[in-house]
Amino acid sequence: MDRQTDDQRIPRELKIKSTLFKDTIAACATAFGNAGVAIIRISGNKSLKILKKIFSPKLSKLESRKLYYGKIINSKKEVIDEVLVSYFKAPKSYTAEDMVEIYCHGGFVATKRVLEKVLKEGARIARPGEFTERAFLAGRIDLTQAEAIADIIYAKTEKSQKIAEEQLAGSLKNEISKILNLILKVHSQLLLNIDFPDEDIPQITKKEIAFKILKPQKLLKEMLDGASLGTIYKEGLKVAIVGLPNAGKSSLLNALVKDSRAIVTDIPGTTRDILEEQIEIKGILIRLFDTAGITKTENKIEKEGILRSERAIKESHLLLVVIEKEKDLEKFLNLLRPEIKQVFKTKEIFLIKNKIDLNKGFKKIPAKGLNILKVFKTAAIKGIGIKNIEKEIFEKVKNKDTTEGVLITNLRQKNLLEITLKYLEEAQKLAEIGETEDKILQELDSAKNSLDKITGEVVVKEALDKIFSKFCIGK
Ligand code: GDP
Repeated sequence: MDRQTDDQRIPRELKIKSTLFKDTIAACATAFGNAGVAIIRISGNKSLKILKKIFSPKLSKLESRKLYYGKIINSKKEVIDEVLVSYFKAPKSYTAEDMVEIYCHGGFVATKRVLEKVLKEGARIARPGEFTERAFLAGRIDLTQAEAIADIIYAKTEKSQKIAEEQLAGSLKNEISKILNLILKVHSQLLLNIDFPDEDIPQITKKEIAFKILKPQKLLKEMLDGASLGTIYKEGLKVAIVGLPNAGKSSLLNALVKDSRAIVTDIPGTTRDILEEQIEIKGILIRLFDTAGITKTENKIEKEGILRSERAIKESHLLLVVIEKEKDLEKFLNLLRPEIKQVFKTKEIFLIKNKIDLNKGFKKIPAKGLNILKVFKTAAIKGIGIKNIEKEIFEKVKNKDTTEGVLITNLRQKNLLEITLKYLEEAQKLAEIGETEDKILQELDSAKNSLDKITGEVVVKEALDKIFSKFCIGK
C-alpha cells in the first residue's frame, strides 16, 4: 500500500520539551457580552508572577486550588475590578502548566480592562484552542480527548454531549490502545521469527499471524459500523421534505418546528431556496430541509432551487415525501431526473398523505419500488398527525443504536480508522500467501502509525493546527 510521507511528523516527546519554554498566554474563557461573571485564564510560567503584580491585597502565600477575594489594580493602585482569583499549580491544572483564573465582572469593559492589564504584565493573547493544545502537548490528554473537549463545547444535543463526555473520559483512547496492543503482539512475534530463526524458540506460522490479525480488524470494523450513527448524533439526522408544489411541505415543516419561519403561500413554487430548521426530538438533533417543489421549469431561480433540492435529497438520511392525492407520488417520481429517481430507490422514506381534512379517503398507493418505511396521514396546517411522525423519526434512529462500544463522531478519526483497517487487511493477505516477515511488518507498522495519529502519539503539525483552530479562544 502507499505509505504517507513521514517528514512532517513530530514525535510528541519533542513537542513536550518545547512546551517547557513556552510563553505565558491569557484569554477570556467566557463569551464576551453582558453577563454576571467573566473568567480570564492565564497559563505559563509567569502566571503567578503576573497575578501577584496586579492583585490586591498582597498575599504572602497563595495556595493552589483556593479562591481568594480581592481587587485587580493598575500601577497607580486604582481599582480595575473587584474579583475572585485562583491559582492552579502545575501540573494539576487544565494545561498542566502553572495557571491562574480571574473571576471578574462580565460585560465588555471590566473584562477587557482586566485582560489588558494581564497582557501588559507579560502574557500574550492565546490563540483559539491554545490552552487545550498545551494540555495535549504536556501529555495530560491525548488528541481524542482534546477533540472531545471541542465536541462538548459545540454539542447541539444532550446525546452528542454525552458521547463527547465519554470520549473525554478516555473511551476512544482505551479502545484504540486495545487494538494497538493486539497489533504490537503480532509485531513482536514476527520480530522473534526474524531475530531467532534457528533457535529453539517456537516460530509463529504465517497462518497463525493471519488469524491473529483478524481480532483487531473486527474491533475496527465495529467502530466503523457505529460511525454513521455517531455522525447522526453529532451532526443531526438530515431529513429532506420533498413533493410536488403545494403538497404542504412548508406547512409540514412549520408544524414540525411549531414555529412559522417557513414561508407558507398558495402560489406554487415559492420555496425557491432550501430552508433548514433544526429540532430536537428526545435529545437527537433533527435537521429538516424544506426543498423547492420539484417541477419542470425554465425559470432560472427555480431551476437553481431544484438543483439544491436534489442535493438535499442525496445527502439526507430520510425523505419525507408529501402528497395530497393518490396520483401525486407517481407524478412526482416522473418529474425527477433518472439519477435522482435512482437515489429515491435507495433512501428510506416516510410517505406523508397530507390534507386529510380535505381528502379523507386516500386509496392505497403502490410503493413503486421505493423503500417506504411508514405511511402517515396528516393535516399539516392543523397540526394533525405530526406527533406520530416525530415519534417514528426518533424510533428510526434509536433502532439503529445497537452498538455497545465507542461511537465515532469525528471524520478525522473515522478516516484514520479506515486507513488502519486497510493496512491490517493487507497484512493479513500477505500472511495468508506466506510473504516475508518484513513485508508483513511494514503493513503493521503503517497500521500502528495511523492509530498513533488518532491519539496524537505521532502528530502532523497541519493536523494539529486544524484541530485546535476549531476551538474558541480561551479554551
Ligand atoms: P408546499 O408548496 O409543498 O411547501 O406547500 P405549502 O405548505 O406552501 O402549502 C400549500 C397550500 O396548501 C397552502 O395554502 C397551505 O395552507 C395548504 N395546506 C397545507 N397543508 C394543508 C392541510 O393539511 N390541509 C389543508 N386544507 N390545506 C393545507
